[in-house]
Formats: sequence, C-alpha cells, structure tokens
Amino acid sequence: MTLLLILVITLAVLLGVTPIRRALISAPVFKVFKKILPPLSETEQQAMEAGDVWWDGDLFQGKPDWQKLHHYPKPRLSEDEQAFMDEQVETLLAMLDDYDIVQKKRDLPEKVWDYLKQEGFFAMIIPKSYGGRGFSAIANSTIVSRIASRSLTAAVTVMVPNSLGPGELLMHYGTDQQKEYWLPRLADGRDVPCFALTGPEAGSDAGGIPDTGVICRGEFEGEEVVGIRLNWDKRYITLSPVATVLGLAFKLFDPDGLLGDKKDIGITCALIPTTHPGVEIGDRHFPMGMAFMNGTTYGKDVFIPLDWIIGGPDYAGRGWRMLVECLSAGRGISLPALATATGHLASRMTGAYSYVRQQFGLSIGKFEGVQEAFARIGGLTYGLEAMRVMTAGAIDLKLSPGVVTAIAKYHMTEMSRTILNDAFDIHAGRAIQLGPKNYLAHGYMGVPISITVEGANILTRNLMIFGQGATRCHPYVLAELQAAANPDANEGLQQFDGLLLRHVGFALGNTFSCLWQGLTAAAFNKSPMAGETARYYKQLSRMSRALALTADISMLMLGGDLKRKEMLSARLGDVLSHLYMASAVLKFYEDNGRQQADLPFVHYNLQRALAEIGRAFDGFFANFPARAVAVVLKRLIFPFGIGYKMPADDICMEICDALSKPGVIRDRLTHLCYIGEGEQDPTGLMEQAFIEMHQAQPQLKAILLAQRDGKISRKVPMDQAISEAEAAGIVTAEQAEQLHHMNKLRFEAISVDSFKSGEL
Ligand SMILES: Cc1cc2nc3c(=O)[nH]c(=O)nc-3n(C[C@H](O)[C@H](O)[C@H](O)COP(=O)(O)OP(=O)(O)OC[C@H]3O[C@@H](n4cnc5c(N)ncnc54)[C@H](O)[C@@H]3O)c2cc1C
Repeated sequence: MTLLLILVITLAVLLGVTPIRRALISAPVFKVFKKILPPLSETEQQAMEAGDVWWDGDLFQGKPDWQKLHHYPKPRLSEDEQAFMDEQVETLLAMLDDYDIVQKKRDLPEKVWDYLKQEGFFAMIIPKSYGGRGFSAIANSTIVSRIASRSLTAAVTVMVPNSLGPGELLMHYGTDQQKEYWLPRLADGRDVPCFALTGPEAGSDAGGIPDTGVICRGEFEGEEVVGIRLNWDKRYITLSPVATVLGLAFKLFDPDGLLGDKKDIGITCALIPTTHPGVEIGDRHFPMGMAFMNGTTYGKDVFIPLDWIIGGPDYAGRGWRMLVECLSAGRGISLPALATATGHLASRMTGAYSYVRQQFGLSIGKFEGVQEAFARIGGLTYGLEAMRVMTAGAIDLKLSPGVVTAIAKYHMTEMSRTILNDAFDIHAGRAIQLGPKNYLAHGYMGVPISITVEGANILTRNLMIFGQGATRCHPYVLAELQAAANPDANEGLQQFDGLLLRHVGFALGNTFSCLWQGLTAAAFNKSPMAGETARYYKQLSRMSRALALTADISMLMLGGDLKRKEMLSARLGDVLSHLYMASAVLKFYEDNGRQQADLPFVHYNLQRALAEIGRAFDGFFANFPARAVAVVLKRLIFPFGIGYKMPADDICMEICDALSKPGVIRDRLTHLCYIGEGEQDPTGLMEQAFIEMHQAQPQLKAILLAQRDGKISRKVPMDQAISEAEAAGIVTAEQAEQLHHMNKLRFEAISVDSFKSGEL
C-alpha cells in the first residue's frame, strides 16, 4: 500500500505539476519528436495547412458522430439548375455524336463549341453577377456526369473551365479589376481558359517546376514598368490549343530587391492573354485518342506587368497555397462526375446487353459468372453515386476538404476502371469492335486519363490520403508539428506540453476502447438507425477507433519514416477511404428515404467496405516493422480474427435482378445515363431491344413451350420459330409482327460495326 501510494503521488506530481512535467517529460519527448520529424518543405507545409477537415476528421479521430453526418443537408438541384439539365443539357446531348467527334473530326463540331459558349456551359461556377450561371457543386457534377455518359470529350471540355483554372482562381483570389475584366469574358465564351502547371520535368512534383519569373524593369504598352520576365515550357495542358487566356504557374524571383527583401518569392500564378507577344501555344497532344484539346505551351523572356499576377502583387509567392486550396473542385467534383457517369452507363447498358445477348439458349445474364461481374458494376455504381453526391455536398457547404476529395478522386476513378473492365468482359467482342455502335470504348480508353490527372493515382493513394489525413484530421498532430516548427523553442515547448497530455489521454482511450469493442464485436456500440443498417454503424465506429489507434502507434514508432513507408501508410489511407465510402452510402440511403429496393446495394457496399478495411489492416499488421507491436495491436483490435467478408452471392444476385429489368428502380439507379432517341442511336437501340424483349416474354415462353412439346421446330432461327408459332396459333398475327420487330432489334443490338476495304 505504501509503495502504491508513493507511486500514485509521484505520478500525480510528475503529470500535475507543470514545471516538473515540462522539465522531466515534455522537454525530452519534445526533443525526440523534433529529431524524428522530417523537415517539412514550404510546399508540403502549405499543402498540409490548406483546405478544411470535414467528416474525415470524425472518422480519423475514432468517434464518428453519425447524427452529424445525417444532418448535413441533402444536396439537390435548384429549379434553375434542373431547368438547365432538362433544356440545355438535353439539347447538347442530342447534338453529340461521339464516334464522329473522336474518330473522325478529332474535335467537337463548330456548332457544339458555339452552343457550349452561348449557353454558359463554361461559366457554371462563375457568379451570376459576372454573367455566369452561378451553379452549385452538385449541379456542376450532375451536368458533367450526364454529358460524360454521352461523350467523354465533351464532358472534359466542359469540366476544365469549371474546375481548377483561371475562373476558379480569379473568383477566390482575383482583384476586383481582374474579376470585372475576365469573368464576364469567360462567362460568355469570348475567352477560353487553360491552366498550365505541368511540364516535362515536373509532373507529380508540381512544386518543383523549373519555370521562372524574374522581377525586373521592362516595357509594357510603351512605358517602362516593373514587371516579370517569364520563361516556361509546359505540356499536357487541357484546352491550351484553343485557349485565349493562359493561367501560368511559375517560380518567382526578385534578385534586385525591386519588390522587397525576399529574393526567392515562390510559386506564383498569373493570367496572360495568349496573344501577348512571346506566348507560344505549341503542338497538340493526342491523349488516348480522345478529341478534347490538350497540348503544350512555352515562352522565352516574355515580359508581363505585375498586375497580371492573379490577386495582384500581394499574391506573389502564394500560388502553391492557392492551387492546393482550389484542387478540391477538380478532385471532388469533376473526376468523380466522370467516374459516376461510367458506372451509370455501364450498369444500364450491361444490364440490357446481358439480357439481349443469348448463348447456350439463355440470356448471358443468367450465368453466375456474368452475374458476379455485373453485380460488381451495379454495386460499385451505387457507391459512386453516393460518394459523388456527398462529396459535392461538402463543396456546397463552402468547404475545401482536401482529404475527402483526394479519397474521392482516387477511389472513384479506380472504381470506374474496375467497372469498365467488367463491362468489357461481359460485352466481350461487342465492346472490342470500334465503331458508331460501341458505346463503351471511348470511356474505356479515357479511364487512364482520369487516373493520371489532378494527382496521379499512385501518388494520391500513397501520399495524400493518409499523409495529409494523418496531419490534418488528427486532433493533435498538426498542432504538435506547428509547435515543433516554432522558432521560439520555449514557446514551442509550452505549446507541446499542453498537447502531449491530451494526446496521451486520447491514445489510452483508443486502446481500451478498441479492446472492448473487439471483445464484444461492437455489440454495445450505438447506432443512429434501427433496422438492417444498424450493425454497419457499429462496425464502422469500431474500425474508426482502430484507425485512430493504429495511426497513432505508427506515427509514434516510425516518426518521419512513415512518410517514406508508403506501402504501410497507404493501407491506413485505405481504411480511412473505405470508412468514408461506407458513410457516404449510409447517408445516401437515408437521404433517399430508406428505400427497400436500395438495400442489396447498401449491403454490397458496406460489406465490401468492411472487408477492404479488414484486408488493409491485415496487410498493415503483416508488414509493420516492429513485429511485437504489430502482433499485440492485431490481437487487441481483432481478438477473434478479422471476420469481415466480401458481399455474399445472394446480394450479388439481387443487384443483378434489379438492374436486369426495366422499371423505376433501374431508371433511378442509372439516372445519369443518357439514352439516345430512336433505333439509330447506339444506346437507344440497346435500350429498345431490351424493353421489347422483356415485353415479349409471355409470347417467347409460349413459343419455347411449343418447341418443347414438339408443336413447332426446335433449334431453328428465331424468325422461323415465330412464323411457325403464328401458323400454329400459338401467337396472334399482331404478336408475331411485334416479335419479328423485337428480333430484328435484338439482332441489331448484338451486331457490331464493320468497314469496307479501304474505308478505314
Ligand atoms: C490528358 C491530360 C490532361 C492534363 N491536363 C493538365 C492541365 O490542364 N494542366 C496541367 O498543369 N497539367 C495537366 N495534366 C498533367 C497531370 O496533372 C500530370 O500528368 C500528373 O500530375 C502526373 O504527372 P506525370 O504524368 O508527369 O507523372 P509522373 O510525375 O512522372 O509520375 C509517374 C508515376 O509515379 C508516381 N509517383 C510520383 N511521385 C510519387 C510519390 N512520391 N509516391 C508515389 N508515387 C509517385 C505517380 O503517381 C505516377 O504513377 C494533364 C495530364 C493529362 C494526361
């Protein structure tokens, strides 16, 4: 008892008496902390600090407040936006012939360019006061999605001016004069923008651009002024071949101190008319054969005035932060929109094709092998839509959630890659043969583009999601890093001291909570909803705690090395990502009125998310270098093993069933997919064949029965069977006519294009 008493008093003094604690605990820990920390570059620091923490913060910190999630408003289109969808977007879609655009013209037709400019498609994010449409993020996303289901080329052309680029940068940082000059011109299409960051030597490492601007005196409009002499060489720039205004990122230097004391000012963004002397718009690239404009630009010793810097001279050197803050639009709206469109198109068309296409006497959709792949398409598509809506919703809350949008960018583009692979496998030769009838090929060819742009995917998964997530979403780490970076060591120690105790308390709380939830299989966790989804909330809360604990332990054990251990950190990023995706699906299900028909899709996504979380943890523990710690951690979190399983087969079959018959459920789940008018249109033809085949089911069954009973011939072409059935009185003349039409459509729908010798 005496010893225990002494121990308790010692601990109380050590932890409770600030000068003693600071001297004996916080100071040595702070020293070690500073030592193991990698020095942060300025660009890394800015990237870490930019943007907002949102729902990702709840998930990372181990205690998601589900009520809060469900209280975020359901994103929806305004009346104006819906009217634009119904009128302008539908008109545009009817004007697009993607085969002609991509394979023949290699450009959008003139009348489409004109329509896009005239109707403000390039000005969706520009406020109405400047002549733009002033649309919300969810509208921007829905419009781009719907266009992408028809033509990737048109969608990319529309999405780029509405994404990271001159428009977005001007609205956030432009001077009044810049806004008043440029925004109306961008809104009515007099000017077409592009934004040039990437060059031959700087792709993923965009902060390392070699392009320079030097502050100097020069002549502008006949007068000598202080300005910038620019040299740049950029590639891969979307819209550059047709751009009239170039947004340019470069590193600014002031060797003669014309602006102040700082010689190396840093990354800066300027807006330059492409007609300005010295600006060269170079050759056009040909990205995966897609027809949207993409190319190079360069300039040598081009002199511009200082007030062409976006935001004016005050914003010199603040370009990197501006870019990182605005990245959310591209990552959180545009690329998710493209990915979701892929899902809607693939779900609708694959469902139709696998019904229309018959082999071995059955629709191929009846074979379980095909169902497995088709369920993946349908299941993932539901997840894509849920994530698209939730992420755009965050941006509509006027947030710039860097981690969430990186998750959306990476996972949604990867999901669309999986979906297209499956859709190709199911369509087989029908998807391979290029021609006007092929509605999948251009999407498939375009997938690597989405994977590459706005932060190539490997980098996004390995560095951004967890790297940024760990510092931004953690309740203490960013503040601890800032304390360590404090040039006043005493003040830094004081800040750190306050954080350390709370951090230790946080980690201990997580440890006990993980053990308890593991032992009880989260049975006592609270769920905000009753019914079939309750168990998922409980498990997700449990896995959120597990992530908080594992992230803390890894940062403690590996320190700055964790940044280089990308294979490990990416797995923790995967856990965070799947928690986010699962949350999005649960919210989507609730926001849409808990429809019974959605349940197989919800189960699919939640079971998949938990299985992927389990897989990521398993890989993490198997490879964590401190073996004893890994074993203890795994036992603590999963005392009875990792029990999560991929979606069960019966759930997959229910998904296939829902998407294989016409009706409101299929329409709702694939609402972004454009179906062209008439049988001449590739999607219109497939849809019509599918519907007529469904309508003909009773007669087809009667014919099959008659064949089995030997009343009419077996194993003959369908047209002959129909005629024999008519003659035998099994179907009426009117029904026979409809059946012949259905059969003609069916055959057309399974046909592919072919070309005469020399035609290609
Ligand atoms: C069609 C198209 C349109 C584009 N439009 C524009 C535009 O309008 N404006 C513009 O400025 N740019 C544009 N880009 C450029 C785009 O943003 C870059 O391609 C992208 O940043 C990747 O650069 P990179 O292609 O040079 O790949 P690299 O940087 O060479 O990367 C190669 C691979 O290495 C990986 N990698 C690199 N570093 C790491 C790391 N630390 N950890 C893990 N993996 C890593 C990458 O993920 C990638 O898989 C466009 C590109 C394309 C293809």
